[in-house]
Amino acid sequence: MSINIAIDGPAGAGKSTLARKLAGRIGFIYVDTGALYRAIALYVINENISPEDAGAMEKALGGMRIELKYIGGKQHVLLNGEDVSGKIRTEQVSAMASVVSSRPAVRARLLDIQRDIAKADNVVMDGRDIGTAVLPDADVKIYLTASTRVRAQRRYQQLIGAGEKADLSEIEEEIRRRDERDMTRKTAPLRKADDAVLLDTSGQTPDESLQALIEIINGKIGRKMA
Ligand code: C5P
Repeated sequence: MSINIAIDGPAGAGKSTLARKLAGRIGFIYVDTGALYRAIALYVINENISPEDAGAMEKALGGMRIELKYIGGKQHVLLNGEDVSGKIRTEQVSAMASVVSSRPAVRARLLDIQRDIAKADNVVMDGRDIGTAVLPDADVKIYLTASTRVRAQRRYQQLIGAGEKADLSEIEEEIRRRDERDMTRKTAPLRKADDAVLLDTSGQTPDESLQALIEIINGKIGRKMA
């Protein structure tokens, strides 16, 4: 039986960075489920489909092939055979991913892809509904969060570091909008699973958060994983 670690939380809480590092430390596969929603968002943007048009969305989902591949331990997302791992990292795709992810048909379409990986391998899977909907029987569930301000500042630093233009208050506003959408949608809203451990990373360095995560996991699994 594979060991599954579910990490959920809002945008910018440090989920992906920490989940990736954690997976490396304990030798698990890191699964970034946001990339799946982003791939669908990219398709919707490229094909000019309105996410509110249920019929068009249904048709689009039928014509779309989404795969996750692991090359040298790194996740790649393929959309109809094309590696779109780079193209899905824009702000436009972030916003659209949050919109399309509220559609039940989109969530249903991605369920098996996520569950199949978790069944086959030891995974650290990050997302919004992993502990509540995708892997309700995960061995360890963590809800990672941080204040809105701190999350906006981190995103700002990331963009500036990548040589892009950024406006802190705009980012904060966009994060607020995404949180609101993710937490209030009807299907699988973002919320802490009852049996998830809450970790607030606001005042922590990445190393401190990673150490805290490892301690939670060692405690839950009952042996030293790292
Ligand atoms: O984590 P990331 O920012 O890449 O996710 C993009 C969007 O995809 C999120 O804002 C959220 O709306 C959606 N998402 C989701 N469920 C997941 C992962 C992501 O609804 N498991």
